[in-house]
Amino acid sequence: MEERAFSDIAYQQFLNEEKIMGSSCKECGARFVPPRSICVNCYRSDMEWVEIKGKGRLAAFTSITVAPPFMMAQGYDRNNPYCSGVVELEDGGRVDARIEGVDASKPEDIKIGMPLKAKFLHRGEGENLETYLAFEPL
Ligand SMILES: [Zn+2]
Repeated sequence: MEERAFSDIAYQQFLNEEKIMGSSCKECGARFVPPRSICVNCYRSDMEWVEIKGKGRLAAFTSITVAPPFMMAQGYDRNNPYCSGVVELEDGGRVDARIEGVDASKPEDIKIGMPLKAKFLHRGEGENLETYLAFEPL
C-alpha cells in the first residue's frame, strides 16, 4: 500500500498526517512501532506497512521530574512532572509515548493495564511541524 521506507523519517511523516504506522512481518506477524525493516523476532526482512488504530493499554510508565530542555520549555520540572510510558497496542506491538490526562505527581494513581487512546500533539508549523504521539485515558 505505501512505498515509503521503513524508517523513523517515514514514521514521523505519517505522525504529521495523524497516522500511526508500523511494520508487520509477513513471515511471523510481529509488529513494530516505529517500523523496523528487519524483524527482530525471526530476522526476516519481508515487512509491510500496517496502520495502528491507536488504542492500547498502559504497559509501563515513569513520572519524569528532571525534564529535558524542550520539555522544561513547556513548563515541566520537579514541581510539575510529566508521564512517559510504554503502550501495548491493541493492533499488536508496543510504542513509547507521552501519557497525558494523568497526574504524574501521583504515580500511585496511574494503573498498569489502563485503557488508552492515541492523540497527536503538534508543535511548530510548515516545514518545522513536528508531531508527537501521546496517549490519554479512554
Ligand atoms: Zn518475523
